Amino acid sequence: MRSLFVTPECYPLVKTGGLADVCGALPGALAGLGVDVRVLLPGYPAVLDGLQGKRTLRSLPGWLPGGGDAWLVAGRMPQGVTAYALEMPDRFDRPGNPYAGPDGRDWPDNYLRFAAFGRAAAWLAQGGDGLDWRPDILHGHDWQAGLAPAYLAFSGGEHRPGTVMTIHNIAYQGQFPSHLFGGLGLPPEAFGVQGVEYYGDIGYLKAGLYYADRLTTVSPTYAGEIQTPEGGLGLHGLLASRAHDLVGILNGVDYSVWNPATDPHLAAPYDADGLDTKPVNKGALQAHYGLEHRPEAPVFAVVSRLVAQKGIDLVVEAAPALLSRGAQLVILGNGDGWLEDACRQLAATHPGSVGIHLGYDEALSHRIQGGADVILVPSRFEPCGLTQLYGLRYGTLPLVRRIGGLNDTVVDATPEAIDQGRATGFVFDSASADALADTFHRAIDLYWDRARWRQVQRTAMAQDFGWTAAARAYRDLYRAIRPHA
Ligand code: ADP
Repeated sequence: MRSLFVTPECYPLVKTGGLADVCGALPGALAGLGVDVRVLLPGYPAVLDGLQGKRTLRSLPGWLPGGGDAWLVAGRMPQGVTAYALEMPDRFDRPGNPYAGPDGRDWPDNYLRFAAFGRAAAWLAQGGDGLDWRPDILHGHDWQAGLAPAYLAFSGGEHRPGTVMTIHNIAYQGQFPSHLFGGLGLPPEAFGVQGVEYYGDIGYLKAGLYYADRLTTVSPTYAGEIQTPEGGLGLHGLLASRAHDLVGILNGVDYSVWNPATDPHLAAPYDADGLDTKPVNKGALQAHYGLEHRPEAPVFAVVSRLVAQKGIDLVVEAAPALLSRGAQLVILGNGDGWLEDACRQLAATHPGSVGIHLGYDEALSHRIQGGADVILVPSRFEPCGLTQLYGLRYGTLPLVRRIGGLNDTVVDATPEAIDQGRATGFVFDSASADALADTFHRAIDLYWDRARWRQVQRTAMAQDFGWTAAARAYRDLYRAIRPHA
């Protein structure tokens, strides 16, 4: 069984969110089950620089959407997985993040960049004019890969692989004005409700969801939510009509990267039997953030994109409840200006108790998981969420909303759940600062009940959200898809 992952991000070469972590780890887990997974990435500078043993396989002169020179190159990811990259200097050799320039604005030709990517993926998935590898499955990730199943549907070629589309976050849909359709190289009949048309525009994710054989998303609860008008953000009708083809498969954690016993970023590594060591990391974290050195203070933390989805405004609004109880708060993140300003303001008003680091810092995110007591994920919606899974393994209890993947991974510390040895964190319902503040109080009350806190930490650390279960589910899904003639 061979699968081609078509993804705009893959840890460690290019990452803006959890999608990269998934595509960095799942191929290896599938390989352990005998599935040969290769990854196709856009040829961003970081990808072309990071591939090991890189070599050019083919020139793709001029026929990709938008024209221009392009090459298919191959190499190995640092973790050993074979990767292809679409080298296309006009489209991908740019500074900034994968989707936006240094000014934070989306690249105006994103529709062409990811049309070329999808077209190249479809070509590669059909054997790429005599390459020695042809997948049984094209597995697309998010809207950037959405056109690949559409191109395949119209390719007319003999060797059409089965197709899977995975939704990592339905809020990002790749929607572009209809007048751009002519540049995509799809036949006119593709522009319709039964095709790539989406509320009068072109929908890249919609295209993928329409044409792919099977659909997945990253948690069972989210699979249900996206079939509702509130959660589906315009795609609920299509998804509900394809409910029998849609499955939620919970993401896993790469425990070789996220393990407090071996984490090279921690001042003092620890495990479930050595939790007395964890406070050393708290001290280091307080020092890093310039907080008062108070070993007894409960430290709450945010590691997140600072966007409305993540409920960061609720944290800012509810923060007085934390501070009134002598807790401290550390924030690591970047994102929308108004939320960055609100966090900055909060830290400025409470020096010594609230610390902020604006930016993206992988090492610091590990040190926060190691040093904090509670990791906050009060999201408005959350397809799966990885941060709370890392918190569990680090004995840093997640405090989350009862939605999406958060609902599938954290067990609220009610007295009964603690007594039964099931509790792993704190869960609240309403997306309001009051509900969050109430939960802050609950968490701090438990924090001072040291024996019970320790018990919940141990239960949390014993949870297994490794990739094996997910990999089995994807392999079984692949097997269930019949190849096209
Ligand atoms: P999303 O993909 O919606 O951003 P996830 O919880 O699925 O949310 O994944 C977020 C990933 O990004 C986690 O690995 C988290 O540690 C990481 N992350 C988010 N913001 C930062 C940051 N500012 N610095 C370092 N890592 C971050």
